[in-house]
Amino acid sequence: MIRDHYYFPVVIFKSGDRFGYHFHDFPGHVIYYCFSEEESLEMAKNYLGKHLYWMEKLGLTIPEPTPIEDLVLSENEKSFLLEINLPLYRGLENDILKWIKRRFGLAKTIITDLYQVSPYYKLVLDADKQKWIVDINIENEIVCLPLEDIKCCGEFNYKVKGNYADPIRCNKCGTELELHLLPLPKLLVYEMYDWCAQYDHLYADEPQIINDFDQRGIEFTNKIRNELREVFKEEEVFVTYVPVDQSDLIIQTYYIMDE
Ligand SMILES: [Zn+2]
Repeated sequence: MIRDHYYFPVVIFKSGDRFGYHFHDFPGHVIYYCFSEEESLEMAKNYLGKHLYWMEKLGLTIPEPTPIEDLVLSENEKSFLLEINLPLYRGLENDILKWIKRRFGLAKTIITDLYQVSPYYKLVLDADKQKWIVDINIENEIVCLPLEDIKCCGEFNYKVKGNYADPIRCNKCGTELELHLLPLPKLLVYEMYDWCAQYDHLYADEPQIINDFDQRGIEFTNKIRNELREVFKEEEVFVTYVPVDQSDLIIQTYYIMDE
C-alpha cells in the first residue's frame, strides 16, 4: 500500500560540541557531525524522506513507527516527531529526469536501476558514450559528474578499512572516496557503515572478534570489486582489504594485582 505521510520519531543527541541523530525504527543510520540541534533535525528529516522513498521504490516494507513516548533516551538525547511528506521526495525524481533530458537531450540512455545506489542516482550514457553520475545531494541539488571522476590518481585502485568514517580510500594517495557516489548497491553501503561502527568496540585481547570483523571486511571487499568490475568492464579495478592492526587497539581487561 502506498502512503503519502509518515510520522517517525528521531533521536537528536549531543556529543562533545557536535550534534547527531539516529532513528529507533531504522537502526544503523547514525549521523554524528551536525553543528546544532536545528541542523540535525533538518538533516534527519531530509535523510529519512529520501530513505523512505528509496524503500518504497525497492518495494521494501516500511516499519510501523515506534510511539515517541516508548523511546528510552540517554541524558544527552532528545526525541522529536518528524512528518515526512513522501510526494515531495517522489517529485525530486521527476526533477532529475527532466534535468537529464535538458542536459543530455534525447540521445541519452539511463542505466540505473541495475545498481540500486539511491532512489535518485542515475548512470547516464551520453551521445559520445561517456558515462555520467547524476544524483541529488543533501541540499536536494542535482549533482552531475563524469563517472571517470571517481577514479583517484588516474586509477580504480581502492583499499577498504574498517576504521574509516568513509571506509574506501585511494590505495595510492589515501584520499577518502565518497562511498555514496560509487555505483554500489545502497544496501551494501548501509551494511558497510554498520560494520565500520563496530570498529570502536574491538579490543586487542579479543582476537576471535577481530577475526570475524576482518572476515566481513574481506566479504565487503570482494562484493565491491565485483560490483565495480561489472560497471567498469573495460577498466582494471583493484580493491584490497586492509586487516585490523591489533596494535591500534586498546586492551579491554585490566587486572589489578594484589601485593
Ligand atoms: Zn589518489
